[in-house]
Amino acid sequence: MSYEIAVIEGDGIGREVVPAAIDVLDAFDVDFEFVEAEAGDAVQEATGDPLPDETYDLAAEADATLFGAAGETAADVILPLREAVGSFVNVRPAKAYPGVDAVRPETDVVFLRENTEGVYAGHEDRLSEDLSTLTRVVTSSASRELAEYACEFVADGRGPAGDPDEGFTVAHKANVMRETDGRFREELFAVAEERGVDADEELMDAFATKLPLDPTQYGVVVCPNLAGDVLSDLAAGLVGGLGLLPSANVGHDNGLFEPVHGTAPDIAGEGVANPTAAILSAAMLLEFLGHVEEGQRVRDAVEGVLSDGPRTGDLGGDATTEAVAAAVVDRL
Ligand code: ATP
Ligand code: MG
Repeated sequence: MSYEIAVIEGDGIGREVVPAAIDVLDAFDVDFEFVEAEAGDAVQEATGDPLPDETYDLAAEADATLFGAAGETAADVILPLREAVGSFVNVRPAKAYPGVDAVRPETDVVFLRENTEGVYAGHEDRLSEDLSTLTRVVTSSASRELAEYACEFVADGRGPAGDPDEGFTVAHKANVMRETDGRFREELFAVAEERGVDADEELMDAFATKLPLDPTQYGVVVCPNLAGDVLSDLAAGLVGGLGLLPSANVGHDNGLFEPVHGTAPDIAGEGVANPTAAILSAAMLLEFLGHVEEGQRVRDAVEGVLSDGPRTGDLGGDATTEAVAAAVVDRL
């Protein structure tokens, strides 16, 4: 089996951490064909277009895409790319690792964020000098699609506890947004019941208080788009550093895998960026393609390196991006 992987490094440290992640993928006996394409500020300056058609088409047709980061043009790049791969869920694990300073070292949660609608798909209008409005979009079909993914995710033991009985928590605000979050919540619970998966719920504001006080109460958390964006960033703050957090934009037969961090202009070009987030994104790509064991091996290798070093500057070390990637490859 061979896979075509679109590789979009983008700008800033994307150009450093994506090659590090590819070094790790190359360590496996899996037949990857990596095809590079441009997106972001640099290609915008050169051609006037931050996301050339070739790049969009490549991502749409590939088996998966590995993405780095884009600077000012991020929204013009990443939103269409998520659409190109048909992504309906953004998977964002937030796990604290031994050897890394974390506000809450016991944190281990995975957010499943609705990736196509909510306020981000709604349109904003300026109705008068004084009045602007936003329409929020929630469909039963997208809510059910997310719910089905959440049920499979839990049933496959992919939650932090690895136990199909752990179920998931729906974070919402259906007590106020009765129509939109009400619909979202109702579909999540209906599908969970059909599939025999345990589901409970938190109001998202209460969740924002309870998570930092005791993250061990939660495992898999399912959220509407905006809530998922904000709450997963909150969890990121608990685990100690943007350089560690991977994400996956998953569709039915395609996906885009990217570190949560941006271009980090303050350190770009120096070869000192932490490649962990990009390498863990590559592990998610392996799992998405069905190479679950290989994905787990990457995670284990990363965990070993985080605990014993070498470490990049953001984690108090002085190793280069390449040295950290090489240490991960060594452990594989
Ligand atoms: P962008 O606009 O592209 O998001 P930014 O200025 O917000 O850029 P981020 O990439 O979001 O920068 O990073 C915020 C901070 O975290 C910066 O100080 C950056 O150096 C640090 N940082 C982010 N990612 C990494 C990484 N992989 N390794 C080391 N430091 C990182
Ligand atoms: Mg940023």
